[in-house]
Amino acid sequence: MTVEAVQQIPVMVPWIGDEEQAAVAEVLASGWIAQGPQVRAFEQEFASSVSSIEGVAVSSCTAALELALRLCGVGRGHHVIVPSFSFIATANAVRHVSAQPVFADVDQLTGCLTADTIADALTDQTVAVIVVHQAGVPADVDAIHELVDPLGIVVIEDAACAAGSTYRGQPVGAGSLLAAWSFHPRKLLTTGEGGMLTSSSGALAAHGRRLREHGMSLSAAERHAADHPIREDYLDVGFNMRMTDLQAAIGRVQLMRIPEIVRRRREVRDWYAEELDGLPVQLVGDPEYGTTNVQSLWLRLLPRVTAEVPSLMAALAERGISARFGIMAAHLQAAYAGVAHVPLPVTEELTNRSLILPVHHRLERADVTRVVSVIREAVRG
Ligand SMILES: *Cc1c(COP(=O)(O)O)cnc(C)c1O
Repeated sequence: MTVEAVQQIPVMVPWIGDEEQAAVAEVLASGWIAQGPQVRAFEQEFASSVSSIEGVAVSSCTAALELALRLCGVGRGHHVIVPSFSFIATANAVRHVSAQPVFADVDQLTGCLTADTIADALTDQTVAVIVVHQAGVPADVDAIHELVDPLGIVVIEDAACAAGSTYRGQPVGAGSLLAAWSFHPRKLLTTGEGGMLTSSSGALAAHGRRLREHGMSLSAAERHAADHPIREDYLDVGFNMRMTDLQAAIGRVQLMRIPEIVRRRREVRDWYAEELDGLPVQLVGDPEYGTTNVQSLWLRLLPRVTAEVPSLMAALAERGISARFGIMAAHLQAAYAGVAHVPLPVTEELTNRSLILPVHHRLERADVTRVVSVIREAVRG
């Protein structure tokens, strides 16, 4: 018996080139490898790329979300509305500040919270909402502000996946009070690990910079740059959420790649859309008010499809195609067992009846044809 050698199709490949390697080598040679001038430059360049004023680089998006909640004074006794349909870090950040996540449902087409689903989850103790731009699909943030601003509830944007996505003709997060970004390799641009908090408020950003570095009044880099010894003060109990200059140097190069990364991913999405046309599936795409960067390409099996996601995943794996289960639902995890929530029918349907397909810059049309041929067989029974 012969086994045909099939080329594997990975679900994601980060786009890293010689330029990133050169940038890291330069930082290594400089002798300053922790948070320093590269981080400062990356903060400014990233903030400007998303039309924000301030950037505070941190060690992860989870850290950025926790920082955002602390900067808003969220803590014990407070409720924070979050989607259950998100990577668990969104809900965990709320727990990290000792507040209570309250799960709201999402829209079936975007996978994002809406003003309607948030309205169902409001309580007397709600002080904040974390709106996730899920898998890079922008949420309708204006409608959410309209609902919650009069109630004094703050909106924090979880834009972990959304660099390069747009909302009403502007970058996602443009002008927002607080938006959190991830640079994990599974996201659109990467620094290995890393995150950023962007803000329209200079005061919040300054406080954020202090909290990320042990509550110090002056950063290590500022003291190093001074021409005479200065002693720092510790103004509050802070954290070590620092990014390194090695990471920031990679991020600065990655930032220049965003338009090309997004263009390629959207092209691959269009190929999928053409090949899947007529099948009983729903492919994630642009909402009417914005554009997605196609960070993750999720596909929902319509109710009339009898095939289940695990068997479809197995069929794909057999053909050397790496897919992922649909976006998780935090309320179904042991870590959140017993947390009361409103009914979440769309979340439960999406998490059980969708899967994530390969999308990256190396994918060719023939690869998409190969993936879709397996799906076609499965959904036709
Ligand atoms: C990945 C992700 C995070 C966490 O990002 P890290 O940088 O790994 O901490 C948070 N929220 C969402 C929606 C994510 O997809």
